[in-house]
Amino acid sequence: MTLKLHSISVEEKTPTALEEKGTSTHWGDAGDHTLPLDYYSTKKLITDLGLPVEKIDTCKNGCMLYWNDNIDRDYCKFYGEARYKRLGSEILICKKNPYTILRYLSLTTRLQRLYASEATIEQLTWHANHQTEEGSMYHPSDAKAWRYFDWIYLNFAAELCNVRLRLCTDGFALHRQYSRMYSYWPVILTPYNLPLRISMSSEYMFLMMVIHDHSNPKYLIDVYLELLIKEL
Ligand SMILES: [Zn+2]
Repeated sequence: MTLKLHSISVEEKTPTALEEKGTSTHWGDAGDHTLPLDYYSTKKLITDLGLPVEKIDTCKNGCMLYWNDNIDRDYCKFYGEARYKRLGSEILICKKNPYTILRYLSLTTRLQRLYASEATIEQLTWHANHQTEEGSMYHPSDAKAWRYFDWIYLNFAAELCNVRLRLCTDGFALHRQYSRMYSYWPVILTPYNLPLRISMSSEYMFLMMVIHDHSNPKYLIDVYLELLIKEL
């Protein structure tokens, strides 16, 4: 029932519409269940069903994240850029209005769901068990680089279910060859254990972070990947 109410709110975009639909159309479906009193209560109730999102302020030049030891800083520790936008006055700053924000979605939660699904758990060893014609490459696991990695990291390779991840981005100019202007910069991970037809489908493309910035972060992707590296 709660999920149904939430879907109504998404469709209609407004709490008012939710209340109207909830009372006129779906109220009768509640049976013995307890119906949340309002939109806020419904949203709070279903919070655990969604993926947790961490919001972290970043330097507007992309040199650092305001987290861990730097969480209380108001200025960039490298070049002194302000963390927050000013409100008219030179002195007054609004601590709710940072220049740039990074939204980070936990990888662990997504991997847990991958292992919890019977449909995917068998496919996690596909990279080691599939047959490929000699001299052909249908999947990155057929490449010499993959085999070299396995040879270097024997313990990791011995457990076939260990997840191998591919990182994809859009717009970063790692080699400073161009600088496109967008407002949002996504970083996506996909599990390479699976056949390509599955790992390349949108369901298995895990959006890890979205950087909201009006300038190109260029080659500074390593700063933003700090969170992901720590989680791994
Ligand atoms: Zn900075």
